[in-house]
Amino acid sequence: MNKVFVIGAGGVSSVAIHKMAMNKNDFNKIILASRTIKKCKNIKEQIKQKFNLDIVIEELDADNSFFVGKLLKKHTPNLVVNLALPYQDLAIMEACLKENVHYLDTANYESKDNAKFEYKWQWDLHKNFYNNNLMALLGCGFDPGVTNVFTAYTKKHFLDKIEFLDILDCNGGDHGQPFATNFNPEINIREITAKSRYYLYGKWIKGKPLSKKINFDFPEIGKKNMYLMYHEELESLVKHYPEIKRARFWMTFGDKYLNYLDVINKIGMSSIMPVNHKGMKIIPLEFLKEILPDPGSLGKSTKGKTCIGTIITGKKNDKEKTFYTFNICDHEECFKEVNSQAISYTTGVPAMIGSMLILNKVWFKKGVWNLEQLDPDPFMKLLTMNGLPYQIIELKTKINF
Ligand code: NDP
Repeated sequence: MNKVFVIGAGGVSSVAIHKMAMNKNDFNKIILASRTIKKCKNIKEQIKQKFNLDIVIEELDADNSFFVGKLLKKHTPNLVVNLALPYQDLAIMEACLKENVHYLDTANYESKDNAKFEYKWQWDLHKNFYNNNLMALLGCGFDPGVTNVFTAYTKKHFLDKIEFLDILDCNGGDHGQPFATNFNPEINIREITAKSRYYLYGKWIKGKPLSKKINFDFPEIGKKNMYLMYHEELESLVKHYPEIKRARFWMTFGDKYLNYLDVINKIGMSSIMPVNHKGMKIIPLEFLKEILPDPGSLGKSTKGKTCIGTIITGKKNDKEKTFYTFNICDHEECFKEVNSQAISYTTGVPAMIGSMLILNKVWFKKGVWNLEQLDPDPFMKLLTMNGLPYQIIELKTKINF
């Protein structure tokens, strides 16, 4: 019996659980545990109403490995799907090792008091997972996640080697709010306000946050400004494809969003340094998160599409070739299907697919892995079957930007 234990009850989790319920032959039992039980109850009610399926819910503070372990012992799942925040990754992995449970997440570890994410801490657990016959799959959302699989698929089917990799993340949607983030505001703002970084001939080139801008014409969306950023999949992709000469990540932002972000930064609201308020220590960014719209609540009002993909140039039989692989996702269609906007949808669906492949042992491999290290074909097939179809276009020439 495939028993899955999902941690976190936010936007991404809600989509993943809807999709697991739609594939109930692969997910025979679903347990959902999170810090705020009310959010678990909401998801449970939706699943009961839509699919007449009962899921089990539990209250859990996943910062504490002991509490996670206690619930794993009680429910004996085969797989933990960590859809809480990156801060909890290590505590949850530790509990998985203790209780012999496979692990999957969508974002790499970051400590609360230092806004710096990297794979080191999780990769360091490779031997522990390997020796316990366990698998941990890291970064199984869209980016990271599907973008890693697009890269592996392009290499497997179309190229002998990859030379230039660009990941393009466009959200052409509008939620009608003056300022809101697409996913957890705290994690999102920490990521966007970090220094930009890209990989060039073996070195990381750093720059000011969002200082390099390009106007790009996205399929089905049109022209948008996209900005150079650092993103976690660059770290694993250049490690696993050492032939890569240049790897970059781009994300679109509207002018209004950037103006708000600029003010937030300048008045110190994006700071993670504690300040005293009436005798209490509060962290400005954590407080800001509390007053910004919950990304999970934006589904109803969001219109437009996302287009996320990879542009890869490399060599096939010594000839230069360029491929653009992307998915288009419609916010309103997502809401109709699972009451959610496309950002949570494009993350929750791959998390469900990765879970399915591990549970059914299609992707089983002992140790800690990133998605590009596994066969991309079964994942690509399931993407189309579960609402995220992709297109691959061969471009006439390498794009110079
Ligand atoms: P949300 O903020 O909507 O949800 C997070 C959930 O985790 C909430 O239910 C929250 O509970 C719960 N949580 C937080 N801390 C704890 C804790 N200590 N113990 C138990 N539960 C906890 O975030 P999203 O759904 O938008 O994002 C989820 C994850 O997905 C994040 O890690 C994010 O970085 C990642 N992500 C990955 C993407 C990708 O493409 N790879 C894209 C988008 C997101 P509470 O309600 O109490 O706060």
